[in-house]
Amino acid sequence: SSTMTTRLEACGVTVRFGGLVALDGVDLTVPPGAVVGLVGPNGAGKSTLFAVLSGLLRPDAGQVRMGGEDVTRASASARARRGLARTFQRPELFSGLTVREHVVLADRVRHRGGRILRDLVTGGGFRRPSAAENERVDAVLDALRLGDLRNREVSGLPLGACRLVEVARALATGPEVLLLDEPSSGLDTRETGELAATLARVNADHGVSLLLVEHDVEMVLGMCGTVYVLDFGAMIRSGPPEEIRSDPAVRAAYLGT
Ligand code: ADP
Ligand code: MG
Repeated sequence: SSTMTTRLEACGVTVRFGGLVALDGVDLTVPPGAVVGLVGPNGAGKSTLFAVLSGLLRPDAGQVRMGGEDVTRASASARARRGLARTFQRPELFSGLTVREHVVLADRVRHRGGRILRDLVTGGGFRRPSAAENERVDAVLDALRLGDLRNREVSGLPLGACRLVEVARALATGPEVLLLDEPSSGLDTRETGELAATLARVNADHGVSLLLVEHDVEMVLGMCGTVYVLDFGAMIRSGPPEEIRSDPAVRAAYLGT
């Protein structure tokens, strides 16, 4: 069945905030290797669904599944260990660390788990990367074309590069599914185009499934195989971009035409 091969799934997810129904029985499926978009007007419930999928918010009803298994009650870190990674709308980076050091830390979470905390506490700071760590990390940086910036501190970098560092860090954890929260926000048209191309490469070369929550409808229609449209907590449509673009209900709800 499709459930067996689906990487990430929301089934009948409902979330209420007091009297407000932020999500009303929402279904969404991210198949292996897919690039899936989630769009909708402000307040539609996109971020809420994202929080439910990544394990930061427990739904009032419905399920989240990974690989067909119910993870609704699994913590965010348990889901990360099962192959779910995410980026945040505002990059959460450490100003004093270089690009490479950010990715080394993510690589250590994958390969050393909880021991990295002990290293930081007892080792008096950032331990020098081993040759093996540098090799793995440089492969990720090269894949995202961040190689030239590897020794720069992130505090001096433009937002577009910071977003790539976030993606690099997420990739270094070895995810099967990557959730991206408004990755184009704050970027100009050229930077958005470059980011879209980079994400498409990550998907094609590494087989990572992507779920993009975006306010930039054109970016989503341009790069996603399937697009879901949320409106006032209800999933009003899903389908290929050309269907979504011409759908009268979507145009009325969202595209404003
Ligand atoms: P989107 O990301 O699509 O803009 P959100 O998921 O952030 O929408 O919000 C959906 C609805 O839920 C909005 O009406 C918002 O005001 C409300 N909402 C979101 N988070 C909370 C919260 N923690 N408490 C109360 N209401 C919330
Ligand atoms: Mg939001």
